[in-house]
Amino acid sequence: MTATVAARRVLVEGVLAPATLHLADGTITAIAPYDAGAALVLPDTSYLLPGVVDTHVHVNEPGRTEWEGFATATRAAALGGVTTLVDMPLNSVPPTTTVEALASKRSAAATQAAVDVGFWGGAVPDSLGGLERLWEAGVFGFKCFLSPSGVEEFPALDPVQLGAALKEVASFGGLLIVHAEDAAVLDAAPHPPSRSYADFLVSRPDEAELAAIRRLLDGARETGCRVHVLHLSSARALDLIADARAEGLPVTVETCPHYLCLAAEEIPDAAPEFKCCPPIRDEGNRSALWEGLADGVIDVVVSDHSPTTPAMKGAGGDLQQAWGGIAGLQVGFAAVADEALRRGHGLERVAAWMATGTADLVGLAAKGRIAVGADADLVAYDTAVPLSVDASRLAHRNPGSAYDGRRLAGSVTHTLLRGEPVEEGTRRGVLLERTT
Ligand code: ZN
Repeated sequence: MTATVAARRVLVEGVLAPATLHLADGTITAIAPYDAGAALVLPDTSYLLPGVVDTHVHVNEPGRTEWEGFATATRAAALGGVTTLVDMPLNSVPPTTTVEALASKRSAAATQAAVDVGFWGGAVPDSLGGLERLWEAGVFGFKCFLSPSGVEEFPALDPVQLGAALKEVASFGGLLIVHAEDAAVLDAAPHPPSRSYADFLVSRPDEAELAAIRRLLDGARETGCRVHVLHLSSARALDLIADARAEGLPVTVETCPHYLCLAAEEIPDAAPEFKCCPPIRDEGNRSALWEGLADGVIDVVVSDHSPTTPAMKGAGGDLQQAWGGIAGLQVGFAAVADEALRRGHGLERVAAWMATGTADLVGLAAKGRIAVGADADLVAYDTAVPLSVDASRLAHRNPGSAYDGRRLAGSVTHTLLRGEPVEEGTRRGVLLERTT
């Protein structure tokens, strides 16, 4: 156990200031003045922040471990400053739509996790009516789609089924998290085979997100269900969400590093590593998303790490056929930190979006903050250690990445889980259950 850690910029209660953290038995036991004699003294260019809590990660094990698995995903997470991840219920086989499937997820993760891992459940047509059992088994909430998910075993909910899911989840005070693209709008958009990124964008219009979010908000109003909009891409939906919140609807929203750090104008054709759904839109949209974050309309930032094999991702460059998903678990935090600093947002905001806010979303009170009694999950980020992203060297199982070749101003230099450095081969991750 590293008993004391000192840095010139430690994030405590939303403020960066010099401090020394005392750590014992995996928790933070005291926050003391800066002490140059601490066991670990970070350079003056370092920030000491709460470990990132990434509530949107597709690990895909069991069943599609060749896409991504717990050993590789949690190793990549630790290298990127992520100390807790919450696994999505789909792309693994079976999907996490039953208590039995949750048990198989947990047993796959148990011996391999290098960081802490929690689980979302899935709301699919067949799991409706049985969601409370899964909630009692410890999932943090339920994911559903309103358009095809990309895998057959995880079908979307139609509008009637969405209403039923909202009612059911509201009955036990749960959280419904939604991939908000409307199937009818997507169907009506042209989507011929094409290697052109511009064509791909036309096939996933903003209106698909707006229509789905409108329907979701109507359902939240009717049922009182807590809802969370996953991976918001279209800034045109921000007014809808702000209005819903002003009205008192229980809605939260996330966006992702790739929507904040990349723009359609820079994406080459026939480059499926940039394909995700909803898509990365134009530069004006990207700036508007940053404004949504600055204004607090967007609550949190998560990776939506969703890799696959090079063959499925490549698909000969056809953006309709290629797998939709960005591999960003290891570089998401560094990418957002770099872009935030460039845009004049302090790292205290980044930690609020990527650690505290996400921990609060899933009710993990001991995560995502530097406070006495909190878990000693910490990340050191140093602005004097530049990072050149080389996709072939990332720890993800399949190292393709939309961030390949990017140069970032700073890097994650230390990741501590419950007070100990996360080193290659250590498997100290704990499986988390919902407690609130
Ligand atoms: Zn996802």
